[in-house]
Amino acid sequence: MSSTLYRKYRPQCFSEIIGQQHIKATLEQEVKMNRLAHAYLFCGPRGVGKTTLARIMAKTINCQTRESTASEPCNECESCTAINEGRSLNLIEIDAASHRGINEIRELREHVKFFPQQGLYNVFIIDEVHMLTSEAFNALLKTIEEPPAHALFILATTEVHKLPETIISRCQRFDFKKLPSTELKTRLMAIAEKEGASIEEDVVDTLILRAEGCGRDAESILGQLLSLGEQRITWEHAGLVLPRSDRVLIEQWITAVLDKKIDSALSLIQQLINEGVDIERFAQDTVIVIRQKMMQEISDQNMDKGSILFTFLDMLIQRMPDIRKMTEIPHLPLELVAVEMVLNRATSASHHTNPVPASAPQVPPTPGPGAALIHEPLTQHHTEKSDHTIQTIQQRWEEVLDYIQHHAPSLSFVLGVAQPIAVNNTILTIAFSYKFHQDIINNQKNKAVVQQALRNVFGVVYDIRTIASEEKPIKTDTNKDDVLAVVLETFEGAVAD
Ligand SMILES: [Zn+2]
Repeated sequence: MSSTLYRKYRPQCFSEIIGQQHIKATLEQEVKMNRLAHAYLFCGPRGVGKTTLARIMAKTINCQTRESTASEPCNECESCTAINEGRSLNLIEIDAASHRGINEIRELREHVKFFPQQGLYNVFIIDEVHMLTSEAFNALLKTIEEPPAHALFILATTEVHKLPETIISRCQRFDFKKLPSTELKTRLMAIAEKEGASIEEDVVDTLILRAEGCGRDAESILGQLLSLGEQRITWEHAGLVLPRSDRVLIEQWITAVLDKKIDSALSLIQQLINEGVDIERFAQDTVIVIRQKMMQEISDQNMDKGSILFTFLDMLIQRMPDIRKMTEIPHLPLELVAVEMVLNRATSASHHTNPVPASAPQVPPTPGPGAALIHEPLTQHHTEKSDHTIQTIQQRWEEVLDYIQHHAPSLSFVLGVAQPIAVNNTILTIAFSYKFHQDIINNQKNKAVVQQALRNVFGVVYDIRTIASEEKPIKTDTNKDDVLAVVLETFEGAVAD
């Protein structure tokens, strides 16, 4: 079923091919102008349409009904049909992976001499051309150096660096790219629909992640999903086919991190390692799940939860590239995300104070890898009084702003027009002139930046309270009493309770 699907929906003309815009445009132009090269070199990752495009090219230039100014094959004439059915004598395909020797190329050279049986060109597609032996390359080189006018070569390779420069320089080269996920997604959804099934968007997203820009893999996985025979393919179905990490583990890990249960979060990662789960896949799947959750919270107007999930997602995405780099300890970035989340949330979300002694090692404000790593060892949290007065904090506020300028320039503006107005042990109150500035700093992630800055300057983790200038928090009680007094006076009443 899976390979059938790939063949069934194989693009039959230029317009059906997704991605590779510049390559299509150039080739179509050459076809229209009748200015073909004798040899083309298609380089790029596997499964992105190199041989498909090569066949379309062969079909187009041999199409019997094509107008000279048209660039698409008719797919109906005898020549097109023969190529589509794999029985054309005008199209010779050689898989160099299994035919790498000199003899195959000699045979090819004999064939090159013949005139096309039908149509105008004999097209030779040599796939995985880098596999040829050096003898075979030399023979091929002679052939493409002086080809007859009716012969056209299309060499395809995933490893162009293995080709002799002499071959490369003889060809018009095109570098194919991985397929863009948006176009791939549209295509997969369309195929599913044609096959009478619908597929959940998240499943398609996962599938595309798995396929890593390879159209052939993506369609092959889709084929397996469709062969389950379900009308609507959900995550649960996908779990039967996609070699994805266990959804339950993903949910458990997310919950542990959000609940600040660092021990569980870390031991779950250990479990992944023990079970040989592919860490990168786990992270990719986790990204998809967190995104789902975040979207849900936002559409439910739960902005606080949405914002926490946003931070989580953001941290995870930023660390994803590290997973591949850390071949020895690919799980380390996940651990860091967990610790970072727990620390950030411990310092910004909670209302109990969590000061860190001034003697704790200070993190220098240097950006770069590792700068946003663990800010302090977890074990160093203990309750100790901060003896900084509000005057000290105000005097050194510039230093705080400097730090923020480095790490989050947009926030430094907001804080530049704000003022620290009160400190009570580790509770620092900052006053803002505008409510919307206050809101910005109240955002979990931004607040964490401010806390980190404060910690960097003062060695203390402050619990930040914010007020906007219209509020008068210090005199609140007095005001309330005053109002009450006025009311009582006016109505000559008394407080009943
Ligand atoms: Zn045709």
